[in-house]
Amino acid sequence: AKAMVTNSTSKVRVVVRVRPFLPQEIAARNGNPKPCISVLENDVETCNEVAVHLKDPDTIRNERYQLDSFFGQEDDNVGKIFYSEVKPLIPGIFHGCNATVFAYGATGSGKTYTMQGTEERPGLMPLAMSTILSMCHNTGCTAEISYYEVYMDRCYDLLEVKTKEIAILDDKDGQIHLKGLSRVPINSMTEFQEVFSRGIQRRKVAHTGLNDVSSRSHGVLVIGIFSPWGDNSVGKLNLIDLAGNEDNRRTCNEGIRLQESAKINQSLFALSNVIYALNNNKPRIPYRESKLTRILQDSLGGTSRALMVACLNPGEYQESVHTVSLAARSRHI
Ligand code: ADP
Ligand code: MG
Repeated sequence: AKAMVTNSTSKVRVVVRVRPFLPQEIAARNGNPKPCISVLENDVETCNEVAVHLKDPDTIRNERYQLDSFFGQEDDNVGKIFYSEVKPLIPGIFHGCNATVFAYGATGSGKTYTMQGTEERPGLMPLAMSTILSMCHNTGCTAEISYYEVYMDRCYDLLEVKTKEIAILDDKDGQIHLKGLSRVPINSMTEFQEVFSRGIQRRKVAHTGLNDVSSRSHGVLVIGIFSPWGDNSVGKLNLIDLAGNEDNRRTCNEGIRLQESAKINQSLFALSNVIYALNNNKPRIPYRESKLTRILQDSLGGTSRALMVACLNPGEYQESVHTVSLAARSRHI
């Protein structure tokens, strides 16, 4: 797929990433898995968008959606996504324009892999940190990180020794504050890896007794830039591993799972409404519909820029339709 799409009128770019089949998925399909997602190359050549084609290999069902760019199964590393989609957002945060990158998709679609990556293949979070650190080096700015999760509309600091809940406050001028959220100065990738991996570990164990909260909460890494002249933040980049979106008609959730699921879907729907309103120049942007969009209010809209990476599992047709339709709906212009 060609990822040379640079200019677009949308203020929030929406791109798709399809992960490869995993070894066990290949084995379960007798070594010959058929992906349910492809991109129609013609559309890539002719305009600043791609047509993503979803087709159910078992039936004749199929759907098409227009998006800003496509990163296929062959793109096994995130380097391409980083260089064409994320790196261009970074200079702006040194000039007061905040930016936000979301990974969106069902559980198992590759969101965490895309954002965090692995030691051998760093994801968008470490890649962004590394670029920011070298820009800090050149400009004399400094960087600080915060890392928190939003679970059931509550916010938890993950950089405290003991995970603690953070109050979300509105101040007089309508700004949102996460009261007492810790900020840790970062001078090198070694420091980043150390601080961030402790945060990831805390996210895994924060809610004892509850199953796999880390994929049912939004994980937010904030990299803030500070100027050498004084204590004021210049700009920030939010990198967000969103909770897995679910289709309750299919997952048969009940009890706490259903409540979690309702909160997740509500916040993802609110996010998509905000992006839709921004991309369509609506006079009113519905930030107040969820905690997540309220928290991100200063980093979505205005001079801010954003990117949504819709992650897809190539073997899941229905789930992919669910993800791409919401992504395409929020992009729609
Ligand atoms: P999610 O966070 O959306 O639930 P994960 O990031 O945990 O999904 O990915 C699910 C599985 O797929 C993991 O085992 C992960 O290592 C693997 N995976 C995801 N994306 C890729 C990729 N691009 N290349 C190779 N393996 C991947
Ligand atoms: Mg995950």
